Amino acid sequence: GLMLRVIAIDGPAASGKSSTAALGARQLGWAHLDSGALYRALTLAALDNLGEEGKRKGAAWSGQRMVALAEELPVRLVLVGDQFRPEVAGVDVEKAIRSERVTRHVSVAAAIPEVRAWVNARQREAAAAHPSGVVVDGRDIGTVVFPDAPVKIFLTATPDERARRRL
Ligand code: C5P
Repeated sequence: GLMLRVIAIDGPAASGKSSTAALGARQLGWAHLDSGALYRALTLAALDNLGEEGKRKGAAWSGQRMVALAEELPVRLVLVGDQFRPEVAGVDVEKAIRSERVTRHVSVAAAIPEVRAWVNARQREAAAAHPSGVVVDGRDIGTVVFPDAPVKIFLTATPDERARRRL
């Protein structure tokens, strides 16, 4: 079969995965795919369209509603230069998804199995469609999303360095 051109970078939060993936992609002339951006974009879409999970009756972030919302708006990744950028309803949300509100709620969305399956499918699509290759980062990339990636990196850092990066 065709060799998958994917470098998968897994590792704990604030270990430098995204920065490393972006630099690596640039060096190779490949694209960087930040898997967290899709979870964040869908979280932003849910906050704006469904309201905060649990805030009112019927506002549950069910897997079915989340996936339907993602498909309808749509939430997607768009290749701009050497970067996949998150879009909601045709609007670039790369900045908006870094808000504290999204950060506070993203783990709720990321815990939903249908959401994980949807995000993973979008990542595999993006990688398969890219003409050269992708460097993907996220906590389950080498294990779940691209188990056949020819290069897998598990990036770690000392607790001090992770705290420094987070700050
Ligand atoms: O990496 P980032 O902080 O942008 O990821 C946002 C959140 O998305 C993580 O805290 C996690 O809850 C979720 N996530 C995930 N699996 C990934 C990437 C991100 O569950 N591969």
